[in-house]
Amino acid sequence: MTPSFTIRAPDCFHTHLRNGALLGAVLPYYVRQFARVLAMPNLKPREVRTAEDAERYAEAIRQARVEQGLSEPFTALLTLFLTDATTPLDIEEAHRAGVVAAKYYPLGVTTNSDAGVRDIFALGPVLRQMEESGMVLCVHGEVPGINAALAEEAFLPTLQRLAFEFPRLRIVFEHISTAAAVACVASLPKTVAASITVHHACITRAQVFNVFGDICDAHLYCKPIAKEEADRRAVRQMMTSGDPRFFFGSDSAPHPRAMKEGAGCAAGVFSAPVAIETLVEIFEEDQVLERLEDFTSRFGAQFYGLERNTGCIECTCTDWVVPEECGGVVPFRHGGTIHWQMRRLP
Ligand SMILES: [Zn+2]
Repeated sequence: MTPSFTIRAPDCFHTHLRNGALLGAVLPYYVRQFARVLAMPNLKPREVRTAEDAERYAEAIRQARVEQGLSEPFTALLTLFLTDATTPLDIEEAHRAGVVAAKYYPLGVTTNSDAGVRDIFALGPVLRQMEESGMVLCVHGEVPGINAALAEEAFLPTLQRLAFEFPRLRIVFEHISTAAAVACVASLPKTVAASITVHHACITRAQVFNVFGDICDAHLYCKPIAKEEADRRAVRQMMTSGDPRFFFGSDSAPHPRAMKEGAGCAAGVFSAPVAIETLVEIFEEDQVLERLEDFTSRFGAQFYGLERNTGCIECTCTDWVVPEECGGVVPFRHGGTIHWQMRRLP
């Protein structure tokens, strides 16, 4: 008999569903893997800045699900994009509209962050309103405009200051990629957690850049960039450790093939088509498969103060080859063989 097991349906507490035609093209891959996702707000031409934007985006996602015939239970939680102009009233209204988190992008740090925040501490009243409303602050923790290899570590003093100046604010340090950040989050109060992607547990800088520092695999190029082997090991160790403050957020970030392979490669790894299967391989290899469900389906919900998902997925030990393209996007591990396959159970 083929080995298989079931776990509670997974969450992904950091992802990019996009909008327009791309949303429809990639949504089936998300719904196949996750019962619930936290969708990031950095849309074009306009970010999710207000409750009204959030309602419009929720409707677009709902419509795409109908058009794609996706009937599985699926919840897209939304986030607000913080700008220098965000007000406490924006937070209150978004909270009332069901938005669970706000995302802090330092100005210009990554894809569609040109309207990001210049000085987060100038937004004190906004952050205090978030504490009041119980809204989570998601942080893209990189200092813009410096060597990308050092950008995350350079941000850590800002994270520490946020944690101490806003002691009731729940903060998620997103897509943690360095040993230094892992240690920093572990040392901070329990109001601070971190999301971990699949790709930061799998790849290093050497797979993304050649010896001249040029991108050699556009589809592995993302922000924050993959770091050194010691960093990858530290991230992966925390992923499988069973520490409830480290949970899954894929940061799956699809870009059409032309935007990755043309001049000026867009940042983002499209991991949604293979996310859970890759996690199964990682947890199996580290001989802690019994901790997988906590990482994918419990710790994140717990930190966000949400009910756990009710459905289940089944994972079966069977080989399959990852397609070269999914919805016009080249996925993580394209062309590779994966030894587990998951499916959602009704
Ligand atoms: Zn992201």
